[in-house]
Parts: sequence; structure tokens; C-alpha cells
Amino acid sequence: MGKMRKPLIAGNWKMNGSIGLAADLLQAMQPGLEESSVEVVICPPFSLLQSMGECFRETSVSLGAQNVHPQISGAYTGETSAAMLNEMEVKWCIVGHSERRAQFAETDALVRQKVGTLLQHGIQPIVCVGESLEEREAGKHESVVVEQLKNGLSGLAADDQLRCTIAYEPVWAIGTGKTATSQQANSMHLTIRRELAELATEQVASEIRILYGGSVNAANAAELLEQSEIDGALVGGASLKTDQFPGIIAASNV
Ligand code: PEP
Repeated sequence: MGKMRKPLIAGNWKMNGSIGLAADLLQAMQPGLEESSVEVVICPPFSLLQSMGECFRETSVSLGAQNVHPQISGAYTGETSAAMLNEMEVKWCIVGHSERRAQFAETDALVRQKVGTLLQHGIQPIVCVGESLEEREAGKHESVVVEQLKNGLSGLAADDQLRCTIAYEPVWAIGTGKTATSQQANSMHLTIRRELAELATEQVASEIRILYGGSVNAANAAELLEQSEIDGALVGGASLKTDQFPGIIAASNV
């Protein structure tokens, strides 16, 4: 039996890509998109949002950003606001990615502020959580992820929580070629869902989508995506490859 939750495949281009790649990727994805019941989102760098919005206008692919500033305007050199994302028809935004947590001091409190701003502007947050290798080896992976989740969504009304998507991305699996096993991933997704039932409501816990991220590619996607609690993938490196990303979309189309 299929899952109740519609699968979502999101590509995080990080600081990579070009408008040429967007056109090539769209062409490669197109045959699979037509009959697909999968939602597809691409999150390119800010500089490509406008032109990719135009490129994807007549398609079912949505546009996401990789970051947002919690304020709406002001003296924040180099930053982009949710109102600006609205103008570019951005529907999604990644928050709390482990690279931003590690390299740009993105704390849980900042993640929560960004989530609030995005929701006020009708943009759906993809909230990333995940433990480091040391934390997993010390047996702290569940408590670390639960803490990030609680803090990132704290105080939100249930209908706002339902507009969020969670991405479980073990830091040790990002860009390393090491994926979590499907059992490790499914078990963490179950922990997240149980926590959401406590934190929010049973409805939020059963309806919210939880993506897995960390070295997902066309070869390993099917096994991950067929797990009961995995509703899609947040894909880094393979989202830049025309011979990989369409295969990941196809793998979720079950
Ligand atoms: C990511 O950065 O969100 C990610 C999962 O990267 P990769 O797929 O390259 O591991």
C-alpha cells in the first residue's frame, strides 16, 4: 500500500550550478515528471532564483531558497529576506542545514526565527536536523535530533507545524558518500514522528513529511524511499547530475 504522504524530492544545489544546468536538468526530469505524483523542488543559489523561476514557470517543479534572513528589510549586508523570496515566487526554503549550523553559526534559536518569518510569508520551511558522527558514536543521536526539532519548531501552532517539512540529515552522511542504512534512517524518522506527537498533535505527527538527506543517489534512493517513515529526500551532490536526479524522482514514484 502506498503512503498517505505525498513524496517530496528536494535538490540542494549549495554554491553550485548555472542556468545552463537548470535547463539540462529540466529536460532530463521532464519525462518522469509528467506522470509523477512526486513533488519536486530545486533550491539553487540566490543568484539563480529569478532566472530559474522563469525556466520552471510552466512546469510542476517548484523553487526553493537555501537560506533567508529573519528580518524583512534593513541594514543586513549580503542577506535576503522572505519578502524578496516572495517576489521571486520561491515556495520553499531550507533552514538549519548542517553546513550553515557549522560554518555560519546558525543556532536552533535562529532556525526558529527563520521558520516563523517564512511561515508569515507563505514559504514552506524545510527544517534540517541531524547528528554528527561523534554524537552518534556516543549514543546521543536521538537526543541531539529531538532537541534540534523541539527548538526549531517551538511554540508554533499545529497548522504552522503542518506546513513545515523536516529533513533528517546525519552530518556524517552529507557529501561523504556514506548513507545511513535504511534502518538507521527509518528509526530516526520514527523517533521524530513520536516526538512530534508529544510536541504537537497526532495529526502533525502522521501528516508532516520527513525527508532523508545524506549521499542519496539514483542507486540507493529506492531502498531508502520505500521505508515506511521516509517521505522523500533532500539531495545535495546528486541534484546537480542529470543522470542521477531523475532516477531519484523515479525511485520515489511508487
Ligand atoms: C545536503 O547537503 O543536504 C546533502 C544531503 O548533500 P549530499 O546529498 O551531497 O550528501
